[in-house]
Amino acid sequence: MNQLRRKFFKLLGLSFLSMALLPYKLVYSVSKKIINSDLSEEQKNIMLNEATERPYSSPLNYEDRDGFFHCANCGAKLFSSKAKFDSGTGWPSFTESLPGAFKTKIDYSLGMKRIEYHCANCGVHHGHVFANGSQNKRFCSNGLCLIFKPEN
Ligand SMILES: [Zn+2]
Repeated sequence: MNQLRRKFFKLLGLSFLSMALLPYKLVYSVSKKIINSDLSEEQKNIMLNEATERPYSSPLNYEDRDGFFHCANCGAKLFSSKAKFDSGTGWPSFTESLPGAFKTKIDYSLGMKRIEYHCANCGVHHGHVFANGSQNKRFCSNGLCLIFKPEN
């Protein structure tokens, strides 16, 4: 009887353990879908493997017209030019995204805790978001993941 009880509690413990692990899996696995078949290998490497483009390599660093930045993979509207600023880091930077444009996850690569953000629509990686001072955020974006469309 005692043994049966032990078995029962062991099973109960295991199911609790798997229930505790389930949300972790749901939060940390992001499904990414390549929609744009014209993407370069470098774009795919950033979007799928969370690589980073060379700083100061993106022409979007110097883009200062009014308009919107879209996902280079699925076309979703992500940032307004009103949120863009010159961060001096060499990557196109924004203080905020359009509502619901991105989802985030915690990234422990490079031995530090960073918040990675990915397109809420297609799931591909775009960059990391940093807390900049007290309240301001900095979305540090790979220009290769963005397409700029000027406002008419
Ligand atoms: Zn997308």
